[in-house]
Amino acid sequence: MDIKKGIAVSPGVSIGKCLIIDSEDYRIPRRQIDASQRMGEVQRVRNAFRDAVVELTELEQAQDDTAGGRIKDIFAVHLRFLRDRRLRKRVTDLVFDESVTAEYAVVTVFHEIAAHFTSVKDSYISERADDIYDLERRLLKLLLGSKREDLARLREEVVVVARELSPTQTAGFNKAFVRGIASDAGGRTSHAAIVARSLGIPAVVALEDLTEIVRGGDNVIVDGNRGLVIVNPDDETLQQYETYSADFVALEHRLDTIREKPAVTRDGVKITLLGNIEFPDEAEMILEKGGEGIGLYRTEFLYLNRPTEPTEEEHYRAYAQTIGVLKDRPIVFRTVDLGADKYTQRKRFAPEPNPFLGLRSIRLCLQNLAMFKTQLRAILRASVLGPVKVMFPLITNLQELMQAKMILHDVMEDLDEESIAYNRDIDVGIMVETPSAALTASTLARESDFFSIGTNDLTQYTLAVDRGNELVSTLYSPADPAVLRLIRTVIQDAYKAQIDLSVCGETASEPEYVMILLGMGVRTLSLAAPLIPEIKEMIRSVTIEECNSLTRKVLAMNSERQISSYIRSAARKVLPEAF
Ligand code: PEP
Ligand code: MG
Repeated sequence: MDIKKGIAVSPGVSIGKCLIIDSEDYRIPRRQIDASQRMGEVQRVRNAFRDAVVELTELEQAQDDTAGGRIKDIFAVHLRFLRDRRLRKRVTDLVFDESVTAEYAVVTVFHEIAAHFTSVKDSYISERADDIYDLERRLLKLLLGSKREDLARLREEVVVVARELSPTQTAGFNKAFVRGIASDAGGRTSHAAIVARSLGIPAVVALEDLTEIVRGGDNVIVDGNRGLVIVNPDDETLQQYETYSADFVALEHRLDTIREKPAVTRDGVKITLLGNIEFPDEAEMILEKGGEGIGLYRTEFLYLNRPTEPTEEEHYRAYAQTIGVLKDRPIVFRTVDLGADKYTQRKRFAPEPNPFLGLRSIRLCLQNLAMFKTQLRAILRASVLGPVKVMFPLITNLQELMQAKMILHDVMEDLDEESIAYNRDIDVGIMVETPSAALTASTLARESDFFSIGTNDLTQYTLAVDRGNELVSTLYSPADPAVLRLIRTVIQDAYKAQIDLSVCGETASEPEYVMILLGMGVRTLSLAAPLIPEIKEMIRSVTIEECNSLTRKVLAMNSERQISSYIRSAARKVLPEAF
């Protein structure tokens, strides 16, 4: 029996057989083959090219000519590349001349071509490198496909173990079969962790070398409450966990009974609890768990898990579906927050040296106006169906906000010209998740209808700690005085400007942060559905006076350690079973 301690990122306990998966990136080592195997490899190359052409032709035909026109063009370009006999010959020649595998030859040739494109000054041509990488990936998928675990086709319950998981991979897990998640890398607010929480799958990350200890098929316990993973537990431990797991389920059921009760403090102050979602089919669960609307719809997840970018119609359908579930409750659509650890189909293979400081989020949208406008059109069209708001992520200065708003107005004008209905007075807000936005909140408030504080990124950027890097996870804490002071500034500035404010980062879902957030003046929290009942219970257990007094004390403290242990013990006194 081995016990590993990591970071608990999604509550619950699961016990199951281990399935180890590799990362999404294919790593292809140079592998020599015998001369006798060369013909077989050449045939594999030909088959992969042939199958890729079939796939792309189908994808091209599936796009309608209007909104999908641009995407159709991309596929047409890809098809032209693949049909170029010289390209295929370069790959098969390499297999023959150097006796290497089909995979290795594809990687080598495609990287050479991409490098050539990237070196060209003309940005149109250099951007074609992305297409080359996309094609390379398609071919590799075909070459390696049958050898890889197909998680979509799981038929038995497993605990997934990986060195690192991308949000895309995690979002593709079938909840019915993936009962637990454990990874060597990651942090509490890495996007894969956030997705696990939304799906309600117990998860532990930052286990460092778990993948070296565990073997496929081992019995594994994932304790997402205490942050433990136990490999091949003995009978006694197994029995203890079976009981513990049953108790936890019972607690969850008990919490579910407060669904109908209001989120009101003991001294009668109403707190609004909203949900965070990534996909339209999570909307139902927000209501089931007692959420009153959606405070953060991470729309970029519509781009993940699929080979092509969503069309305007696909955006619209996803939004309309969510509005249909929520009826007249509010929904905040955050415009795509791609980049960093979430990639578009086009960007997936163009690595940046510092992706979290790079072409991410609103910056990516402002440089890809066609993509941005496609989404804004869909949101605006959906705005006549219900109380919809739009929110821009990662705003760092006023100019960015003005630019984004200008584009929104351009799209409104386009819709006017086409006589398409939309809500002209749609609320436009921003995520405050960079120190620069927090420090200029009073200015940004003049141009915003609301703020939502993204404590995940705000903590990362304030403390200069990568939110997904397990090596620095102990340095990552929203309880740091610097982060708390920035949060307080934003709350005060929103209050002065009389605009709405919510918190939608993971602190909103952690019981120990409830008191300090309420004490600083927050009255709206947005969080993953499964955690709403517990946070409601916490709210119902405190008074605003207690929260204010705790906040006064905490804001006078100078160390993260002192603050985190203070808020934790205060919360533990109020609601012991949450810890
Ligand atoms: C945040 O940064 O706090 C946030 C809610 O956005 P995301 O986690 O999607 O980056
Ligand atoms: Mg963020």
